Amino acid sequence: MPGFELFGDLEREQVNDVLDNGVLMRYGFDSIRKGHWKAKELEAALEDTFQTKYVQLVSSGTAAVSVALAVAGVGAGDEVIMPTFTFVASFEAIMALGAIPVLVDIDDTLALSPEAVEAAITPKTKAVMVVQMCGSMGDMSVLQAICKKHELLLVEDACQAIGGTYNGKPLGSIGDLGCFSFDFVKTITCGEGGAVITNNKEYYINADHFSDHGHDHIGKDRGAETHPFLGYNFRISELHAAVGLAQVKRLPEFIDIQRKNFNTLRDALSEIPEVTFRTVPEGGEESGAFLNFFLPDLETARNVIEGFKKGGVDACWNYYDNNWHYVRKWEHLKELKSLFPITKEVKEGLKYLETKTFEASDHYIGRNISCLIKLSWTEKEVKERALKMMKIIEKSLKS
Ligand SMILES: *Cc1c(COP(=O)(O)O)cnc(C)c1O
Repeated sequence: MPGFELFGDLEREQVNDVLDNGVLMRYGFDSIRKGHWKAKELEAALEDTFQTKYVQLVSSGTAAVSVALAVAGVGAGDEVIMPTFTFVASFEAIMALGAIPVLVDIDDTLALSPEAVEAAITPKTKAVMVVQMCGSMGDMSVLQAICKKHELLLVEDACQAIGGTYNGKPLGSIGDLGCFSFDFVKTITCGEGGAVITNNKEYYINADHFSDHGHDHIGKDRGAETHPFLGYNFRISELHAAVGLAQVKRLPEFIDIQRKNFNTLRDALSEIPEVTFRTVPEGGEESGAFLNFFLPDLETARNVIEGFKKGGVDACWNYYDNNWHYVRKWEHLKELKSLFPITKEVKEGLKYLETKTFEASDHYIGRNISCLIKLSWTEKEVKERALKMMKIIEKSLKS
């Protein structure tokens, strides 16, 4: 997945452009910036990449999720349905708005289970957040139909699925709003950065203002701008945008390499009858950022991870035992360990986590192994890796 592996002259050239005129800010300073508008240019490039009308760059993927929800009016006391398998950013972004994260099971797509979503809907539900984990996706047409039926907002966190598609459409562009991260380990990076994408003009204008203190961005005198509503600072800098601008031009090349490496590993592992793969919904094409596969049970999965570690197969995880991505280890959320007081509504709203169990998620995540696909491997390295992985898996299955 990581674009940082293939850093080079293009990135340097873009950053030097910004350093040459010294305007590190994305807004204003028109007379001294020598025509360099890296953030604006990157937004235009991403509109093209994600086949969407509007793109608002922000400071991170986490900011993107908060901004996406805020601009559509999600806030205090509203419930947002999200999956048990994601990144901690999902509930952070929801709770930052005073909204309540409602965690529900995933299915064999490793994304939201549509049945679990439907069962979790209450009169307080405002939005469903589907997280397109590890390069693939949830069952988008079913999730869209549920949201339409119940008049809910569908927000797509496609931070890990840059380059994946569903019925030919880029992931992130299918929901009402899509969110991306360009942090250091994502498929394309800005160092730090993120984006909110949408076809809804009102949401976009809200995002443009909200991510910059509510400034209306009318005219050329920032000090004279008015504030139609309250905002915050989620701005990206020109330096970060410059890196992203170089990277986005290389995205097709990155995705080609990623898919090629992915296919080599997948083809090899598919020769083992006990190994199965996540379901990719009909019409979906994975980005190849990760290869995910299932083993018969948790014990085998743990043994394989041990074998991989000893055998030098790096960057593979069983998320059941992972602190970042799976509900089982989110004690800080379950115990509400906040530095500052949390609203009564959110406290009440999260009480269910003290007792709720997620058997279906445990069933899939316990048996799953997720391997990062790197861009820097040589063909020889990928083939050797495939053989090593096969041997270790076969050995674990026999023991
Ligand atoms: C990386 C990531 C985020 C957060 O992005 P940051 O830019 O690191 O804040 C959110 N959701 C998912 C699924 C991610 O992988």
